Amino acid sequence: MDRCSFCGREKKDTNLLIAGISGHICDRCIEQAYSIVQEELGVQGEFDMGQIKLLKPVEIKNFLDLYVIGQDEAKKYISVAVYNHYKRLMQQDSRDEIEIEKSNIVMVGETGTGKTLLARTIARMLHIPFTIVDATVLTEAGYVGEDIESVLTRLLQVADYNVEAAEKGIVFIDEIDKIARKSDNPSITRDVSGEGVQQGLLKLLEGSIINVPPQGGRKHPDQKMIPVNTKNILFICGGAFDGIEAKIASRLNTQVVGYNAAKKVDRVDKNNLLQYVAPQDLKSFGMIPEIIGRLPVLTYLEPLNEKALRRILTEPRNAIIKQYEKLFEMDGIKLSWDEKVLDYIVQKALEFKLGARGLRSICEAIIMDAMFELPSNENPGDMNIGIKYAREKLEKTNLKRLKAA
Ligand code: ADP
Repeated sequence: MDRCSFCGREKKDTNLLIAGISGHICDRCIEQAYSIVQEELGVQGEFDMGQIKLLKPVEIKNFLDLYVIGQDEAKKYISVAVYNHYKRLMQQDSRDEIEIEKSNIVMVGETGTGKTLLARTIARMLHIPFTIVDATVLTEAGYVGEDIESVLTRLLQVADYNVEAAEKGIVFIDEIDKIARKSDNPSITRDVSGEGVQQGLLKLLEGSIINVPPQGGRKHPDQKMIPVNTKNILFICGGAFDGIEAKIASRLNTQVVGYNAAKKVDRVDKNNLLQYVAPQDLKSFGMIPEIIGRLPVLTYLEPLNEKALRRILTEPRNAIIKQYEKLFEMDGIKLSWDEKVLDYIVQKALEFKLGARGLRSICEAIIMDAMFELPSNENPGDMNIGIKYAREKLEKTNLKRLKAA
């Protein structure tokens, strides 16, 4: 008769009895053993800061490749920056004369090309607290200063108020370009809409101890402040910097004059000027030099072409198409898409100038009726999306709404 080799219960007295090479274990003993293991290993909460495994830049990039299509240049820069960031964290335990500076990153690229996705993927890989803040929100409050701290409130919240974890987290500041000074002329002092916020942000970027209101905002005036040191927080900034190409072009033009001119002009790819972006272009755009100095890693993202969009639909680890398949699978339905439909979705995304973000809204429009009806169907069978079906559904949708999405 089979019985558990640990507690001796007979098979009939257990919910489950698993056989090993020369013994058995029951469900209760498994649970007990599991809790002993947890206790022995001292498994802590989600953010176990002692356990960061230092991946090499190539490994970091490989991981990014699973989720983000293309953008090799940005991936390379970010991988190195993150690697160096963690080397820097490790160095702080020793007394080294050469102090490695923080490698905060700024990414320039059209909206919807993967800036947020890259930052998010890095955080996912490192298992560290991660938050996204919109620089435009900071603008509204002006430079009172108080609201800049709310950036850290969010980080504390996602770290479950584990200050040590938050102090090694990543903050993604989106739309950093929106706090640019509106004029390149610093003497026009009244036009400092963005400059005040830039100054405030500087305090965070350069690393200092900031008193953070744990609940954020001014609604809780008597909350006790939590001091947070930003020295080891990695800041990744992103922005579209609309119009920066003109600044890049004019810089490139002035540079070539008189010096090896013909040869240089030859090499400039006018269709993709972003690849030449340099710190002085950010300055011409209206970022203050102090901020630029605190964002030493500058990289760019390519606009997404047809080929990239097509890959984004199906290739990433959690590609949109895979997500729909999963959703249908949960209802026992096997979902498939004709290749032609996928090409059609990409065409429409390009046509509406929706970029990668539009892929989802277009898919949603096509598949909404099926998602609504099929789960109630007793015998739904399999679902194949053909081009005729897709066209019909998409044409029925209010395309204006898609554009606004
Ligand atoms: P950005 O921050 O540059 O405005 P996001 O990273 O938020 O753009 O991208 C919006 C969405 O588009 C993402 O959630 C993702 O689904 C998709 N996407 C954009 N770029 C890529 C890419 N290079 N690879 C895979 N998906 C992408």
